[in-house]
Amino acid sequence: MKAFNLSAALIICLIAVTFSQDGPSAWPKNFPMCNGKSNSPVNLRTTKRRQAQRWKLTGWDKPSKYKVLDEEYAIKWELNEGQRIIVSGGGLTDTYDLVQFHIHWGSDNSRGSEHTLDYRRFPMEIHFVHKRRDFDTATAAVESEDRDAIAVLGLFFKIQKRDNPNLEQFIQAVRQVRASGDQKEIENFRIDALLNLVRSEVQKDFFRYFGGLTTPSCNEVVQWTVFTEPIGISAYQMNVIRLGNPDAVGGEFFRPLQKLNGRTPIRFIPSKGSTNVKLCGDVAQNYCKSLRSVKGKTRESPRRPTRPKLWFFPSIIRRIMIK
Ligand SMILES: [Zn+2]
Repeated sequence: MKAFNLSAALIICLIAVTFSQDGPSAWPKNFPMCNGKSNSPVNLRTTKRRQAQRWKLTGWDKPSKYKVLDEEYAIKWELNEGQRIIVSGGGLTDTYDLVQFHIHWGSDNSRGSEHTLDYRRFPMEIHFVHKRRDFDTATAAVESEDRDAIAVLGLFFKIQKRDNPNLEQFIQAVRQVRASGDQKEIENFRIDALLNLVRSEVQKDFFRYFGGLTTPSCNEVVQWTVFTEPIGISAYQMNVIRLGNPDAVGGEFFRPLQKLNGRTPIRFIPSKGSTNVKLCGDVAQNYCKSLRSVKGKTRESPRRPTRPKLWFFPSIIRRIMIK
């Protein structure tokens, strides 16, 4: 139980050891929540449609810095302390601060995404992990047991003939961390590249459902958004990610589908005649003044959120999992 509590505090989508040992089928033995009724990922099938509320992305277009970490079986971009990247709207129940993003991929181009779209798998899926704004840390959000404590925006990738120029910084960061070994940091990744990466895809349809973390301890605290429009990536670029780390060759770094257990992911379609995304200016001072027009509560936290301390502790988790 002690190990379980520890992991609950530390993990969101930690991939390294979990996929390299006994695999996802063994997770429930050590992490009971991995056997929950509202786990992720799931297949996304169009049943209901609703009109989308406009997204508000704040700080995504502002040059910023990241730490990029190669953790053997995961590549993760950690937002630097003091940076604020905010998402709201899009039908989210609240306002969320970006904490990190990371990718899931597979052994070949027929697999790799965690969610599926009408059971179609994609070669890669990126997860932008946010905590609800009223939590000081992501740890607190994960431990809260609130089903909307964490918001993850997921996007698929699909193979295209040409390299995607918007992925250049992304691919370059992968090369650099791989060349320097795991657990190294690169601090010159500009956040504004992200906006180019997701700009057109976020204008399109998306699915929304409540689920969990896709790695142990599988806490069911995630308000999921999965966009239907994939980001293009060339086979060459995909190979840089897949094969750049010799240890990761042949690896499958995605969790199998989980049962919906009565949940119905809802498909949202963009509202007609207007852009589906509003970009807000300087994050700290001009925090998207029209934000209050967003339906639902917006909680003004009196304290400045501190940087979460949980990203990441693979060695601790490794010890837990191997025991
Ligand atoms: Zn993930």
